[in-house]
Amino acid sequence: MSQLTLTEFDRQHLWHPYTSMTQPQACYAVASAEGVYLQLESGQRLVDGMSSWWACLHGYNVPELNRAVTTQLDKMAHVMFGGLTHEPAVKLCQALLPLLPVGLERFFLADSGSVSVEVALKMAIQYWQGKGHPKHRFAALHKGYHGDTFGAMSVCDPNGGMHSLYKGFLPEHVFIESPRSRFGGEWDPADLQPLEQLLAAQHHELAALVLEPIVQGAGGMCFYHPEYLKGARALCNQYGVLLIVDEIATGFGRTGKLFACEWADITPDIMCIGKALTGGYMTLAATITTDEVATTISNGPAGVLMHGPTFMANPLACTVALASLQLLLSSPWQQGVQAISTQLHKELMPAQHLAAVADVRVLGAIGVIELHQPVDMATIQQQLVELGVWIRPFGKLLYIMPPYIITPSQLSTLTHAMLTVCAAIAT
Ligand SMILES: *Cc1c(COP(=O)(O)O)cnc(C)c1O
Repeated sequence: MSQLTLTEFDRQHLWHPYTSMTQPQACYAVASAEGVYLQLESGQRLVDGMSSWWACLHGYNVPELNRAVTTQLDKMAHVMFGGLTHEPAVKLCQALLPLLPVGLERFFLADSGSVSVEVALKMAIQYWQGKGHPKHRFAALHKGYHGDTFGAMSVCDPNGGMHSLYKGFLPEHVFIESPRSRFGGEWDPADLQPLEQLLAAQHHELAALVLEPIVQGAGGMCFYHPEYLKGARALCNQYGVLLIVDEIATGFGRTGKLFACEWADITPDIMCIGKALTGGYMTLAATITTDEVATTISNGPAGVLMHGPTFMANPLACTVALASLQLLLSSPWQQGVQAISTQLHKELMPAQHLAAVADVRVLGAIGVIELHQPVDMATIQQQLVELGVWIRPFGKLLYIMPPYIITPSQLSTLTHAMLTVCAAIAT
């Protein structure tokens, strides 16, 4: 039997996110990672612009986080959370509690972002059962993204998402236009009209509004005006509809605030966090709600919240999450994110003048170049790797959200590569 190389076996047997098994895209083997660098098996070293999808705030192979994992490993890797509890879970929630929007105080530790969204939807449905008038439809925004499991998918953008593929199986919720007023721009109160009209007409059947605060991520990398979030909170209160805020991408300082809700100074009824929660070390997420929601669910017909994953509150994940949080809070992260923001602005804005570029936008430690046309992934991915960077575009978007520890010269390597590939696109 002939020996397949690592990438050959991968190509034949392993599925990657959103890829074909028969026409897979090129895949680069990573041997190790350190700081902001990914070390490829080929010997090449890439500056990471993605933070492994928003997660690796502190970069890779972080001594404090390694130590947290190995120390906990010597005590216990995992125990079931049914009927048992442990210090890692309790300490993590104790540390998070004073950082969250005031009023969010009941934690469900889930095993991934998508699952935390499922739990949020279940909480909302069980809340209304507890109230004695069941409602089970959700309102969500165009260009929203909330994950890939069925409940989460059902509240993702109805066009760009996967609705047509699973039509007949996915529950059908209601979608409204996403806000047009941009972050940092003029606020147009008319942005709230679609939401107001929907709530006025259908609040009797709507359990909750689900949205990403300030940044619509995977659905288009759009940054919207905080007044929209403020207005949405007020309208949900007015019409008796819960507000579920998905902070999975925005949490832990990415937008310049610890949580994006702070831009509008609101408390949602239910909030999801994930991605950067463990500093990119392990999979962990949380769904956090108010005392009112938790109590109503618990006094409802089921008497309990109907969810309980096998790996709920995994001690290794909770320990590294606490260590990551401590590392973040003990660092001057606001200045760090601000410095990245300023540099991104300065170095990406010149791309506005390129023929292929439709828009350039920056918020916190997120930099986005939107093109007129979807990129040719195979070509552009290879060009970026040749330029020594790991940036993974999708559709018309070339974007980065680097680890906060990136240095100015490493960041310039990323922005320079972005401008170079944009300039090379024939129009
Ligand atoms: C990534 C993401 C999710 C899904 O999280 P997974 O951990 O990939 O399941 C949900 N919502 C938002 C806003 C995300 O960015």
